[in-house]
Amino acid sequence: MNKRYSAQKMMIEDALMKLDHPTASEIYEHIRKDYPNISLGTVYRNLGLMAESGEILRISYGNAPDRFDINTHNHLHVLCKECGQVFDAESQRIDELIDEIEELLEETTGVSIEDNSLYFKGICSSCQSKS
Ligand SMILES: [Zn+2]
Ligand SMILES: [Zn+2]
Repeated sequence: MNKRYSAQKMMIEDALMKLDHPTASEIYEHIRKDYPNISLGTVYRNLGLMAESGEILRISYGNAPDRFDINTHNHLHVLCKECGQVFDAESQRIDELIDEIEELLEETTGVSIEDNSLYFKGICSSCQSKS
C-alpha cells in the first residue's frame, strides 16, 4: 500500500465518519472543500477497494446511488423515499430473525449463505408529519 493511497483513504474515512451514510459524490464534495485536487474517480476507486476488503459497507438501493457506511457490523438500513435519509436498524431481535431466514434458505435451497443485501424503503416519521 503506497503513501498516496493511505492519505486518500484517511480523507475518505474522515468523510464517512462526518457524513451519514453518504454517496460517493457526497464524499467527494466533502473532501473537495479541503483538497480541491481530488477527483471523483479517485474517490470511487478507493471506496470500491475499501468495500471489497471489508473496511466499509456498501449499501446498494437498486437504481439509487450506492451509499457507504463506516460501521461494518452487518446491520440493516431503511431508506426514506422522501428525504433520502438512511436509518440504521440495529437490534438483536432483527439479527436473530435474519439468522433464521438464512438458516431456512440453506435448508430449502442447500446453498450456504454468505452474504445478503436486504433493503427497505419507506417514509420516515418527520416526512410523515409533513404530509
Ligand atoms: Zn424522510
Ligand atoms: Zn449504517
